[in-house]
Amino acid sequence: MSAKADFDLIVVGAGPAGGMTAFTAAQLGLKTILLEEHPEVGTPAHCSGKLQVRAFREFNLPAHLVLNTLQAGAFYAPNGTVARVRRASPDSHVVDRAAFDRWLADQAQQRGADLRTSVRVRGAERLNGVMRVTGECGGRTFSATAPIIVDAEGARPVLPQSLGMHLGRRMVLGLQYQMRDVDLDSEDCPEIYLGSPVAPGFFGWLMPIGGRRARVGVCVDPHKASSAPMHYLTRLMREHPVASRRLRGAVVERKLAGPIPVLTSRARTVTDGVIVVGDAAGQVKATSGGGIYFSLIAARLAAQAAAAYVGGDDTALLRYERLWRRRFGRELRATAMARLAINEMTDAEINAFIGAIASDGALRGMIERLGDTAFQSRLLPPLAARALHPAHLRQLAPPLFKLLRYGLRAWWADGIPAEENGPSNVNG
Ligand SMILES: Cc1cc2nc3c(=O)[nH]c(=O)nc-3n(C[C@H](O)[C@H](O)[C@H](O)COP(=O)(O)OP(=O)(O)OC[C@H]3O[C@@H](n4cnc5c(N)ncnc54)[C@H](O)[C@@H]3O)c2cc1C
Repeated sequence: MSAKADFDLIVVGAGPAGGMTAFTAAQLGLKTILLEEHPEVGTPAHCSGKLQVRAFREFNLPAHLVLNTLQAGAFYAPNGTVARVRRASPDSHVVDRAAFDRWLADQAQQRGADLRTSVRVRGAERLNGVMRVTGECGGRTFSATAPIIVDAEGARPVLPQSLGMHLGRRMVLGLQYQMRDVDLDSEDCPEIYLGSPVAPGFFGWLMPIGGRRARVGVCVDPHKASSAPMHYLTRLMREHPVASRRLRGAVVERKLAGPIPVLTSRARTVTDGVIVVGDAAGQVKATSGGGIYFSLIAARLAAQAAAAYVGGDDTALLRYERLWRRRFGRELRATAMARLAINEMTDAEINAFIGAIASDGALRGMIERLGDTAFQSRLLPPLAARALHPAHLRQLAPPLFKLLRYGLRAWWADGIPAEENGPSNVNG
């Protein structure tokens, strides 16, 4: 540790990325401080909480965080066609995000990390060879120093900009209600509602969270939507032929909302004395908006890099960059390509695509066997091969062609197509 610094490591933001960074760093013996702007870690929650079973195994997460377990999926096309898939074993759990974030922060504290809540960080600077963050806490100025900062601020970070980092991003806006007395088809089967009238640029969902409760939501791309997310959520709940039936007698328990950075540039996520992780670094799958698992992976790598950096290894930060990209960078690129292609599909093409899956048992079997909600790109090569089958060439070839065309264009344009990188015109 630098003789002049208050801490070895400052972690900004106590979501999954910040909590896991602080937990791992404290375990590695770093004098760590975890800063959270809200008075309570985990509140307000915004997320549906779907997290792959493999993440539970990899990070040794306790069973008491699990609200529900998911083994199936139902995908509704705009014309009402449904493709159902059911795996041989559970794919994901649904967690209570407030409890999940609190558990991570508790683990960090138990290993010696200092947690400070109600601290809103406003900026950071390099000062006399150490990093200094400044902000406010209860109307008073807060500041702390360390050789390194891990920025885990979530979707709308302020630190990267203040340090001259330009991590381009494009958001979708999510809004959901947690509801009880939902008339579920199956407790282990989330439903996905597709099509431009439902949720332009993304999708609507119903996520069972145990008992007869569910989170019902929409995400919309402000570049494609003509109204705010509330308009689409209200319409989904009242008018969608399936969702409205499930929700007829349901009661709203609470509202959850937040942006998701689904398309990001490939700009570096490190700079001298700073590592960016989680949503702040755009480590989110553009197809589903899922970011918890990748945040945890990146956070552990960030803490290891911070420990090496504090120990004098100047190459540690670039190693973090290399390692997270090796672990799931391909997945971010592939899902970004898929998202751009899906966004270019007409509702008729989505109907045909879902229809092809619904009518072909062999195709569904392949998805059930090989589909992996964490690493979705693994399904692309067998899906492309199946698209060449004469029975499907007509339905599946157009979306795959779009995947190539729009995906390659995005690749060329450094992640985000230039004409889609403008400001949003619809507020959450
Ligand atoms: C509607 C919706 C549904 C979602 N559903 C899923 C899902 O089912 N599965 C999934 O994997 N992902 C889902 N996501 C995405 C997931 O929530 C994120 O990928 C994940 O939370 C990223 O974790 P994080 O720690 O990077 O950021 P966050 O969880 O956003 O945590 C950031 C933390 O930093 C704090 N903070 C921010 N700025 C400051 C500051 N300047 N000073 C101090 N503290 C600060 C915030 O208060 C917050 O506690 C969903 C997102 C939304 C919006």
